[in-house]
Amino acid sequence: MTTAAVSTFQAPKGTYDLLPPDSALYLAVREAIAAPARRAGYGYVETPGFENVELFSRGVGESTDIVTKEMFTLTTKGGTQLALRPEGTASVLRAALQANLHKTGNLPVKLWYSGSYYRYERPQAGRYRHFSQVGAEAIGAEDPLLDAELIILAVDAYRSLGLRDFRLLLNSLGDGECRPAYRAALQDFLRGLDLDEDTRRRIEINPLRVLDDKRESVQRQLTGVPLIADHLCEGCKAYHEQVRELLTEAGVAFENDPKLVRGLDYYTRTTFEFVHDGLGSQSAVGGGGRYDGLSEMIGGPSLPSVGWALGVDRTVLALRAEGVELDLPAATSVYAVPLGEEARRTLFTVVTELRRAGVAADMAFGGKGMKNAMKSANRSGARFALVAGERDLAEGVVQLKDLESGEQGPVVLGEIVATVKERLV
Ligand code: AMP
Repeated sequence: MTTAAVSTFQAPKGTYDLLPPDSALYLAVREAIAAPARRAGYGYVETPGFENVELFSRGVGESTDIVTKEMFTLTTKGGTQLALRPEGTASVLRAALQANLHKTGNLPVKLWYSGSYYRYERPQAGRYRHFSQVGAEAIGAEDPLLDAELIILAVDAYRSLGLRDFRLLLNSLGDGECRPAYRAALQDFLRGLDLDEDTRRRIEINPLRVLDDKRESVQRQLTGVPLIADHLCEGCKAYHEQVRELLTEAGVAFENDPKLVRGLDYYTRTTFEFVHDGLGSQSAVGGGGRYDGLSEMIGGPSLPSVGWALGVDRTVLALRAEGVELDLPAATSVYAVPLGEEARRTLFTVVTELRRAGVAADMAFGGKGMKNAMKSANRSGARFALVAGERDLAEGVVQLKDLESGEQGPVVLGEIVATVKERLV
């Protein structure tokens, strides 16, 4: 039998596989990001990996790169146009509206989610075509406490992971009252600049996005550009001030970033982004904001809402950049090494009992020799090895070996589970 054959298939461009041991870190990061939201009354929501393409073109916005350039679309045999979801908010709101959650009289509807998202991007470090986000949305209430709550939950999530070098950028994008006048002032300014065709088109469709243009040639011309902060109406100003006060009271530092606009069309008022300084150009580890107009854009009633999505892949990269090692529990606590056929059966039963008693246990399969089996035991990260040969079984014992100290001694078969549990604490 040969094991040399290698599959010629590779993971598609811009994607990667998660395999042990790294995959354990991803699971732990997802869990850590979601934990603060769960503790704050957010319930789990799961939506399909694809939606009607129009949900995104209307919800995310025709003028965003995400919709115009980055969607993976497909047409079903029945002729329906679908898109792999490029983000979570539009789907979650669609699901809440479809189930009439907003009519239960219990607003806001608070939901969190975790899953895969797809964007046809130019792949580079930290930017993939398939990536993972954890998100949280509070639907149907306009309350600065809620904006602050979500931001604090994200900060607590990063902190619980031990991240330090992240910064919170904060802005207000105004609302239906003040944004139109600001938009017009911004367009006036931008039309006078020396910009390429694409960017000139953007001025007419979504001028705020020009502020976000990373190119030096564009940024250089933006000195003196009108800023939304100077155009906010009284309502938006007071709202934003409250959010900032609440964050300060909660010990959350932020930087006012008057040019922060984010890539999606539907944001109003509070807008924020978390950036990590160890990540190079793809520095955004998460972001979100208030999207009071989205529900109406997708055919629902007026439902002011706020939410965020944090990128799992980039959070893992940020942890690596800071050299943070998570204290992950060992996948296996006990590893059984049988010597001979009878021992295989006996230890298989012991391993099953251990697992049923809540102890993570594994064993050497495939009739491995003692040396190889002990190697596997050490590689598994287990704290104990259970070794048994014919002589042990004749005496009704197995040898329990502490793989840290090397100490070893016999334990009566019927007492293994209790002994192991006692020694593992
Ligand atoms: P966005 O919806 O673009 O604000 O994305 C929210 C978060 O998801 C970002 O801050 C990133 O951490 C992550 N993210 C977005 N696009 C990608 C991508 N192509 N690859 C990896 N992570 C991404």
